[in-house]
Amino acid sequence: MSEETLILDGSAKSSEIQEEIKAETAKLKEEEGVVPKLSIVFVGDSPASASYIKLQQRICEKVGIDSEVIDLEDDVSEEKLLAELDKLNNDDQVNGILMQMPLPDHIDDDKVIRSINPQKDLDSFHPYNLGEVVLGGDAYQPCTPEGVMALLDMYDIDVKGKDVAIVGHSNIVGKPLALMMLNRNATVSVCHIDTKDTASYTKEADIVAVAAGVPNLITADMVKEGAIVIDIGINQVDGKIVGDVDYENVKEKASAITPVPGGAGPMTIAMLLKDTVKSCKEML
Ligand code: NAD
Repeated sequence: MSEETLILDGSAKSSEIQEEIKAETAKLKEEEGVVPKLSIVFVGDSPASASYIKLQQRICEKVGIDSEVIDLEDDVSEEKLLAELDKLNNDDQVNGILMQMPLPDHIDDDKVIRSINPQKDLDSFHPYNLGEVVLGGDAYQPCTPEGVMALLDMYDIDVKGKDVAIVGHSNIVGKPLALMMLNRNATVSVCHIDTKDTASYTKEADIVAVAAGVPNLITADMVKEGAIVIDIGINQVDGKIVGDVDYENVKEKASAITPVPGGAGPMTIAMLLKDTVKSCKEML
């Protein structure tokens, strides 16, 4: 690692945010007598999702947020799922709804996403909230790109005027991240599976952000000296969690880099907690 490489420590920054949230929930309880509440809707029994949900619940408890999991069988009907969401939409005690994705094939994702009350749609799946992201508005932003922007802010990294290459164009990470960067006057290229030559974009970029779900997709020859590298990918390789970046070699060239785990992931959770409290305050 070159001496100057800054490790963007998402775990430490997430902890700082969690402390602030803890103070806010204590104040809400004392002054308003309310406890923010998050409902997580989980269809099926994916062990990876189950353990992520457990982690979310543990952190919620730590910062003074109530959480519950609505567990539904893999073969739950679309009608039943929509009815559960409707109950949560209309429950004044519930401030946030997390619909755990992906859903089984017999359920229409789009219909489910559109059925969530935008006020409680903390993942910003709903077209209303995504539209607000386009406009740079103040609604909910998808937690992962929101966390990336917050991490950059906490390290005083200004994206204005920078050339940014984003690898991955999902609705939940790549596209909204591109819009958030664009709204801050970065110049953004978005690469994806059909991009002819991804390296030609990443090599020129001041900031490379990758969310593809492909281990070692970004290698040292694909980044320029001094680039800032944000690795959002989460992959399991030989029982270990790794990102999409060849971390050991890329950090030799980067001026700043996020580790995996401990970079973008913990920031996602911090944003989820922050947005739950925001919704609670808006719903008072
Ligand atoms: P997705 O599968 O919906 O999208 C993957 C994107 O990567 C697509 O745009 C696809 O075109 C692109 N892609 C795939 N292979 C590519 C290649 N060889 N070259 C260029 N582009 C390629 O995934 P997603 O939901 O956006 O998640 C992406 C990754 O980010 C996954 O590893 C996921 O686990 C991780 N993720 C992390 C967090 C977090 O909190 N850190 C949150 C969400 C997703």
